[in-house]
Amino acid sequence: RFREPFSWKARAPAAPGMRVGEVDTPALVLDLAAYERNLDKMAGIVSRAGKRLRPHAKMHKTPRVAFDQIRRGAVGVCCQKVSEAEVMAAAGITDILITNEVVTPAKLERVAELALGTALGVCVDDASVARALSSACAAAGAQVRVLVEIDVGGHRAGLSDPAAAAGLAAVVEQSPHLVFGGLQAYHGSAQHKRTVEERRATINEAAALVRRTIAELGRLGIACPVVTGGGTGTLFQDIDRPEWTELQCGSYAFMDADYGRNELEGGVRGTGFEHSLFVHTTVMSTACVGRASADAGLKAVASDSGAPLIVGRPDLSYNLGSDEHGTIALTQGASLMLGERLALVPGHCDPTVNLHDWIVAVRDGVVEQVWEVAARGALT
Ligand code: PLP
Ligand code: MN
Repeated sequence: RFREPFSWKARAPAAPGMRVGEVDTPALVLDLAAYERNLDKMAGIVSRAGKRLRPHAKMHKTPRVAFDQIRRGAVGVCCQKVSEAEVMAAAGITDILITNEVVTPAKLERVAELALGTALGVCVDDASVARALSSACAAAGAQVRVLVEIDVGGHRAGLSDPAAAAGLAAVVEQSPHLVFGGLQAYHGSAQHKRTVEERRATINEAAALVRRTIAELGRLGIACPVVTGGGTGTLFQDIDRPEWTELQCGSYAFMDADYGRNELEGGVRGTGFEHSLFVHTTVMSTACVGRASADAGLKAVASDSGAPLIVGRPDLSYNLGSDEHGTIALTQGASLMLGERLALVPGHCDPTVNLHDWIVAVRDGVVEQVWEVAARGALT
């Protein structure tokens, strides 16, 4: 007989004290030493630049990671979804910026409610939404920080006309339940431009629009307390620009194969951060001639940025051809044994993390902790 309500939560693939070779697969495995070096390096770079760091939690979806960043000086987190912000707030994060437009009445109500117990910011690019948010806040007795999003070239959201952006800030200022929190100025497609020159040119253009918008705000007598944006890819361009006061980098903590293809400086690949996140997989069939299958497929590793790399095996390539299988073509002379374990560097960290319930945190080959990816699947 069907037992209702029925719920099932994936069993953690590991427990503290286990050797990494005993972790059940597929599993997200975090190299704690590399992860901590990444967090320390970013905290140092951003504070030496005189900016604030508000790392993006959509990447890790894991409150534990957010607290590790805050302990190193981050001012809070960014979230992309209201539900992600709810998870982070429930875990005790007290300063959250939703770097996104929130539109429907039901979500605006949730934003207002969340703002009662959290220093919460949200982005707008439309006056009717600002008014609806103001009404939701009035009903809840809440106040929320509102950032006007400008389109600095990514063409995803935001106003591209400085006077229109300033006009929207004036609407926000006039609402007793909204506090104008500054400008959201994030350029998504700049992050993955491969050369330093392309990224610098794009960020310089974005900065010019920020300056023009601040000038328009000034004409209306509105001060701009914060300009927030930036990501891992443009970090070394962003820190040279005075316009941004706050950076939103996310991927730097874990890194991925796609970011590894960026150019850091003349001829050097990468972003300056180390791969700390891996998907461990086990070879489960060698029966077919010339190929092997492992247990991490499309449901364990995101494929939007290409195939994962196999650590230490440049002679092999991993093909995410099916839901639950990865296939590896065995070129002349290459071999894999049944039960052999491989560590994969995912093509793209954010959607890969979102496929897993747990992060297995490892130091010196031993599982130290198992962290819950608590906002995994938080889409609304
Ligand atoms: N800020 C916003 C608004 C984003 O959408 C993203 C990621 O796409 C980031 C920051 C973080 O970028 P990254 O993970 O590349 O550092
Ligand atoms: Mn990403």
